[in-house]
Amino acid sequence: MKTEVYNATTQKENGTNICGRIIRDGGLVAFPTETVYGLGANGLDGDAVRRIFEAKGRPQDNPLILHVAKKSDVKDLWQHVPDDARRLMDAFWPGPLTLIFLKSDIVPDEVTAGLPTVAVRMPEHKTALALIRAAGVPIAAPSANLSGKPSPTAAEHVLDDMDGRIDAVIDGGACRVGVESTVLSLVGKPTILRPGGITREMLEQVIGAVEVSPAVLRPLSEDEPAESPGMKHKHYAPDAEVVVAVGSVRKIAAIICREYDIAEAMGKSCIILGTKQTQSCYHGMRCDIIGDRDEPASLCRELFAALRRHSGKVDMIFAEGVPEDDSGLAYMNRLLRAAGFNIISD
Ligand code: AMP
Ligand code: MG
Repeated sequence: MKTEVYNATTQKENGTNICGRIIRDGGLVAFPTETVYGLGANGLDGDAVRRIFEAKGRPQDNPLILHVAKKSDVKDLWQHVPDDARRLMDAFWPGPLTLIFLKSDIVPDEVTAGLPTVAVRMPEHKTALALIRAAGVPIAAPSANLSGKPSPTAAEHVLDDMDGRIDAVIDGGACRVGVESTVLSLVGKPTILRPGGITREMLEQVIGAVEVSPAVLRPLSEDEPAESPGMKHKHYAPDAEVVVAVGSVRKIAAIICREYDIAEAMGKSCIILGTKQTQSCYHGMRCDIIGDRDEPASLCRELFAALRRHSGKVDMIFAEGVPEDDSGLAYMNRLLRAAGFNIISD
């Protein structure tokens, strides 16, 4: 299959309309959102949705998010719209917040992996909204990477993984948030299943107490149930060993310098994902400055691109842990999974 590339800015009307038709007719189109690039199919067509799983090599038990272009579309996809959902939609939609509630009959089992609930989000990215409108159906879309790899935050990343496997990609440049949406379940107590750009603190200002699933920052044991099936799968892994140093800033830098030297002495090639604050600690070492520790959102924006940049080019990637509040929670959730929970704390 040839994968067509459309440019969101230069061919806006034409490309989006063509891609909307491809989706309506059962094909696969990767498109930009403010979080990461999504791989979209007609969310009401079980056969089209099955093709997403094939193209990504995604485990069958990992459900997808339905993307809508207006808030009122959730009425058709859920059994009813709970009050908390209304408040959250008014506060954060369009935006990087996915809400889970009991599904209606029109949602195919392929979307929900057989679960009685469905995840829905209204993205903020203009191209994503235009594509959903052009398709005229909710778009089921996971991240547009091969399963297990870092999520794509640029059209080139999509092509690296998906060229020849999907019908088209719309190039809309780099993604603003850089990590996937916050996933909040509204079945029972509101619970964050996956942290993202909308933080726990922001959610609590609107609906009060919000729980965080234990799977967010640690691996689940065999007998623990996964509230979000995606949490138990291997994720975001580059082709290199990733090690995360945690502790105070000074300690982190010392650990990384020590481990870097040990690895190099063993003949391994290394890169450090450093920050503005620690840059000077890594003098004479290979270091890629990915953002500012005081603004974890800046680290979120760059993490996946950095993992892809060094994937297959070095043996080891050393990264810095950050405090797990605000956007730091989303950053640590992705980083720890990319590292397979390979943590050094001294
Ligand atoms: P991705 O499509 O790669 O962004 O992943 C979507 C995430 O949302 C995965 O972690 C899924 O497990 C989670 N998810 C989607 N639908 C549901 C649902 N109905 N219940 C629980 N988690 C869900
Ligand atoms: Mg994904």
